[in-house]
Amino acid sequence: MQKIYFDNAATTPIRQEVIDEMVRVMQTEYGNPSSTHSIGRSSKAVIETSRKTIAKYLHCNASEIVFTSNATEATNWIVRSAVRDFGIKRIITSKVEHHATLYTILALQQEYGIQVEYLSVNHEGVLDYNKLTSLLSDETKTLVSLMHVNNETGVVNDIKRIGEMCHQNKALFHCDTVQSIGKTELDLQQLPIDFIVASAHKFHGPKGIGFAFVRKSLVLQPMIFGGEQEKGWRAGTESVHQIAGMAKALELSHDYLAAETIIIGDLKEYCLKQLRNAFPEIKVNGSNTFYNILNVILPFSSEKTAMILFNLDMKGIAVSRGSACQSGSIKPSHVLAEMLTVEELAKPSLRISFSHYNTKKEIDYFVETLKSI
Ligand code: PLP
Repeated sequence: MQKIYFDNAATTPIRQEVIDEMVRVMQTEYGNPSSTHSIGRSSKAVIETSRKTIAKYLHCNASEIVFTSNATEATNWIVRSAVRDFGIKRIITSKVEHHATLYTILALQQEYGIQVEYLSVNHEGVLDYNKLTSLLSDETKTLVSLMHVNNETGVVNDIKRIGEMCHQNKALFHCDTVQSIGKTELDLQQLPIDFIVASAHKFHGPKGIGFAFVRKSLVLQPMIFGGEQEKGWRAGTESVHQIAGMAKALELSHDYLAAETIIIGDLKEYCLKQLRNAFPEIKVNGSNTFYNILNVILPFSSEKTAMILFNLDMKGIAVSRGSACQSGSIKPSHVLAEMLTVEELAKPSLRISFSHYNTKKEIDYFVETLKSI
């Protein structure tokens, strides 16, 4: 059966060039990067070259990039460290953040009794920037943790504006850039952001590797104790082939960025047009959304709602659930629950997320399949 993958916000297929590079590194760079002999130094050179490559695309210093196993780990480390080591007394975030952020903050609230303020979003998923301004006007030592692109709706936050507000009010800014790294230009020389996090598998790289950007002036404490790897912040022998694969994936994403942005944006537009033709009452969740994520409410009855993902899966189509009540046993999407009405939540929402590997033919098949459900 033909397989159609429209779940690229969850993870992406690895590019062949990335696999080739990882295989090459596994075959040739087997030395321990901490060893002082030439075989070890050669592995170390792969890591440092990868760090420089990543820094080049983000317009930051190589020393500001710290390798981690993924974005979740990076966020845990940064937010915990901010509270523990920088004397943060308050975190401002939103209820539509990824659980990697929300659950870390909840744990810290319980452990350290810090104040947590949640910014609301409106029906279109747009943040309450006015509340951020008013909250930041007092003197409390604050970390703001807000994402760039929402992973469920694709709504894009104005991170330049948030960064400037933080900067003016001496608050630290942690930004979850998991959905935007490798998919748009991020210039950390221009953006007043203190910390960002990324996972390679979201930009056609390997799983189990990611990184944190920590601005030079900020010195965090180790997340893992042991050796001197990653400035002693994250001890343990590095995964050389994964780091090399991540750098290669970011490099290729940037090489093809202009062309792929057009291809993917065009696919999203085409999909929405075909869905609107088939289901005139369809509604898009979120405004000002990123070019690769489409989240829609389908005007389906409750009987159809329950089985929709299962039916699509049976036809070889992978998309993600967007909303609450598609199956009695599934918990509601915490993101859509903040945005939609109870009636809207009762209908099926789907997240369809594209990559350059998708085609219009796949979209036609998807829409035909939906019509037949
Ligand atoms: N933040 C966002 C916005 C995400 O979409 C994800 C993954 O879905 C994460 C954080 C966590 O990424 P990982 O599971 O690779 O650590």
